[in-house]
Amino acid sequence: MTNPHQPNLANSAFDAHHPPSDQIIDTCVHCGFCLPVCPTYVLWNEEMDSPRGRIYLMKLAGEGAATLNPQWVSHMDSCLGCMACMTACPSGVDYGKLIEATRAQIERKDTRSWSEKLFRRFLFATFTRPDRLRLLRWPLLAYQRSGLQALIRSSGVLKLMPTKMQALEMLLPKLGANEKVAEVTPAQGIQHRRVGLLLGCVQREFFPQVNAATARVLAAEGFEVIAPQEQSCCGALLAHGGEEAEAMEFARKTIDAFERAGVDTIVTNAAGCGSNVKEYGHLLRDDPQYAERAKQFPAKCKDVTEVLAQHEPRAKRHPLNLRVAFHDSCHLQHAQGVRQQPRQLLSQIPGLQLEEIAEGPICCGSAGIYNLVQPDAANELGDRKAKLIAPLRADVVATGNPGCLLQLQSSLKRNGSSTPVVHTIQLLDASIRGAQLESIW
Ligand code: SF4
Ligand code: SF4
Repeated sequence: MTNPHQPNLANSAFDAHHPPSDQIIDTCVHCGFCLPVCPTYVLWNEEMDSPRGRIYLMKLAGEGAATLNPQWVSHMDSCLGCMACMTACPSGVDYGKLIEATRAQIERKDTRSWSEKLFRRFLFATFTRPDRLRLLRWPLLAYQRSGLQALIRSSGVLKLMPTKMQALEMLLPKLGANEKVAEVTPAQGIQHRRVGLLLGCVQREFFPQVNAATARVLAAEGFEVIAPQEQSCCGALLAHGGEEAEAMEFARKTIDAFERAGVDTIVTNAAGCGSNVKEYGHLLRDDPQYAERAKQFPAKCKDVTEVLAQHEPRAKRHPLNLRVAFHDSCHLQHAQGVRQQPRQLLSQIPGLQLEEIAEGPICCGSAGIYNLVQPDAANELGDRKAKLIAPLRADVVATGNPGCLLQLQSSLKRNGSSTPVVHTIQLLDASIRGAQLESIW
């Protein structure tokens, strides 16, 4: 019997392996409530670059009325996967599943030019491998500390390079000391709970201070922190980029690593990774060995702010006399529904004044590898965010994702601002330790 919810594959432009679900597509009633929060629609005012337009394009392709030609693909590529449309949608359209299925179809159809494929391969092969990122630390440190980076940036040479290379250079993180998180960080005082810590790839190698701060804060609040050293990439960039098979492989390894660690809570501090591990049940649904375990896994995963906000503060907070502009990462606010917890934790710091950035639901342009593969749109969104931050006269911007941190740092700088950007947990850590603020930026 024909399933009315699946496309007629005889005509469909999609292959038979999990095409975007007709059932989800048909949930869209074309009301347009999602349009004002969609960053690409806000920028270009083009229906086909809105959630509603993209869903319609998916429908046409599923019915065989459109092919995955370069123009069709460009509308999907320009989507940031920010999920703002899901938060805004009154009909509950699960756009995240649609775009992820669509991206996997696009990658399998081999629609990209060789140079684009090479660039994407380079990004995936580098940013998902902490060992490779570690090798990049030394040349990057030499580049930054020798003054060569400052010289290149001020000389105008960058403008002669391809836009994607310019974006890569401008987004380079400023490297500091390589603080390691031990396999076991004991709880201070009476142990409250035992939790695992997902270290991430970019976070582990380029923002080790964020992981170190996370472990310190959790320990100060009475949590024993287990950080399995053999843990791999969680697969977030791959899953969000349509590289399904590799993403599944990393998901299996992550499940294995944390099952071996024997923890019932897994703490994430990178919003993109957090939203990905919460989707393992869907990603591994066809895997007979892992499907059941993957279904249980998301319930154990919590952003660090979720874990801490559920818990009565134990460690003393020292004052931080700062105006802090808080930026909601899309993968935290839209994909994980975590908005109030980071605000609650920051508000517990004496002297700290929290400022809201206008257009909060709209993405800063980071979105995984988006600011590297779609640099023009990403810069437009970054500039827009920087202009909204400027009037707040904040001493610091706080956010919950390494990608947003890099994007905001680069956008603020491009717009003439030297306001530092830090992870929320770094402010909490500084307050608990009574640390000098300059030491965290
Ligand atoms: S995920 Fe973001 S960019 Fe993509 S359609 Fe939804 S709101 Fe627009
Ligand atoms: S808000 Fe939801 S139902 Fe309305 S157009 Fe957007 S996706 Fe469709």
